[in-house]
Amino acid sequence: MDGLMKGKRGLIMGVANDHSIAWGIAKRLAGAGAELAFTYQGEAFGRRVKPLAEQVGSKLLLPCDVEDSATIDSVFDTLQRSWGTLDFIVHAIGFSDRNELKGLYANTTRENFIRTMVISCYSFTEVTRRAAAMMENGGSALTLTYAGSVRVMPNYNVMGVAKAALEASVRYLANDYGPRNIRVNAISAGPVRTLAGAGIADARHMFTYQRRNSPLRRTVTIDEIGGSALYLLSELSSGVTGEIHYVDSGYHIVSMPTLEELKQ
Ligand code: NAD
Repeated sequence: MDGLMKGKRGLIMGVANDHSIAWGIAKRLAGAGAELAFTYQGEAFGRRVKPLAEQVGSKLLLPCDVEDSATIDSVFDTLQRSWGTLDFIVHAIGFSDRNELKGLYANTTRENFIRTMVISCYSFTEVTRRAAAMMENGGSALTLTYAGSVRVMPNYNVMGVAKAALEASVRYLANDYGPRNIRVNAISAGPVRTLAGAGIADARHMFTYQRRNSPLRRTVTIDEIGGSALYLLSELSSGVTGEIHYVDSGYHIVSMPTLEELKQ
């Protein structure tokens, strides 16, 4: 895949550390020759992201809190001045109050519902709109979702509702920007041990269940998610848009374990 992304420039949003899904994606893109810019949320994350960005030769590392539209504007102003055009964007951002990622969905507060939707869903629309304005020769936008959008996963709660809206946004944005050859897709990843993943109650149980019950009998790595991202962000997927692509060891196709497996 060397050279597949040569001459392509893109923005990576959502690296918190070297366990982040966005980092797995960034490494694969850089390995394929892409030039990358990164955003980070707050100075503490910035200190962790800086050496990672340097590792893949990035010269643009910008602060951005998606709750504050002014910081999004500032990121795209800098990209406009530095690069002028953009080829792709990766949005790997999600947040909800961890106190509400357990127990009943019904107890979600209005305040956390709105905050979760703004950070985990609306921000993708907001950054894709700004990115699209810089994609003069077509482009590709990618976000990260989880199967809790379409099925009830214990404790995923309001994040599942936000991911359902995010997936609908992928389809609407794909239709909005398709005439300009800008493609919009999502990867629905299986559980990965990250900071965000650890915020969900009983995350360990989710991992064990996935390992036991997915066709591949294991969880996925950030490198594997990166490989699928490379496909969706490159010309290899030039005919694909509005797609929710599962990278989850096949877990989403299974209805129930066999009797023998249940007894284990
Ligand atoms: P992570 O903790 O490494 O990354 C989450 C990122 O979101 C962090 O970089 C954080 O700074 C950023 N973020 C949160 N609030 C923000 C804000 N207000 N402004 C800017 N950035 C903000 O965890 P991850 O698992 O790599 O998460 C990346 C994406 O993948 C998320 O959308 C998550 O829902 C999704 N996802 C994760 C899993 C999993 O099991 N870990 C599975 C499927 C989908």
